[in-house]
Amino acid sequence: MWIKIKCFVLDILFPKFCFNCGAEGSYLCEDCQAMLEISGFHRKYSSRNIDDLYFPLSYRNPLTKNLIQNFKGAPFVKDLAETLSYLIISHFQLLDNKPDFSDFAVLPLPLARKRHKWRGFNQAEEIGKALAQFFKIRLISGCLVKIKETLPQTEIAEEKRKENVRGAFEVKNRNLVKNKNILLVDDIYLTGSTMEECAKILKDCGAKEIVGIVVARG
Ligand SMILES: [Zn+2]
Repeated sequence: MWIKIKCFVLDILFPKFCFNCGAEGSYLCEDCQAMLEISGFHRKYSSRNIDDLYFPLSYRNPLTKNLIQNFKGAPFVKDLAETLSYLIISHFQLLDNKPDFSDFAVLPLPLARKRHKWRGFNQAEEIGKALAQFFKIRLISGCLVKIKETLPQTEIAEEKRKENVRGAFEVKNRNLVKNKNILLVDDIYLTGSTMEECAKILKDCGAKEIVGIVVARG
């Protein structure tokens, strides 16, 4: 009951509005959610270091783009991650052939410390927590760290993105990833340079299978 009262009070103090149409009640209303077209399909994907990739939305849908950009830009609102996690979880619920991630661990892509401090939290980490709970698997936190400030990948030319993230990440504790299957979590996958760089480092440290999970793919 106290939780209900707390939520009620918070809703009055900080009402939520749909990012797209402005309807009060949530960050994404049911009508706008339907327009996002959550995918119920999965096609096997692989790149040099990523063994598969799951995503509920296409970044080509202008509404998706708007959603991600809004959520990326909004600081200090941790609740937004709940909406993004919900979209990913819905995708897995819609799939006919549900993947078995029981021998995986969730690892969120890290933010640079400065950015983390400014936002107060890491969106990927919040999504990762929800996914670890959903799949009932472990969350590996604070193991992969960002050691170099990078420019936002969306703001630079495609051919420069690889260079931008090279050497930007470091594994602090190899034992946590050695021989592990890993679900690597981020918000978007565009050219995939950031996730690829992280996957490479994790594999260099002995990680086995690496499956990416993002909210949207470009
Ligand atoms: Zn709406």
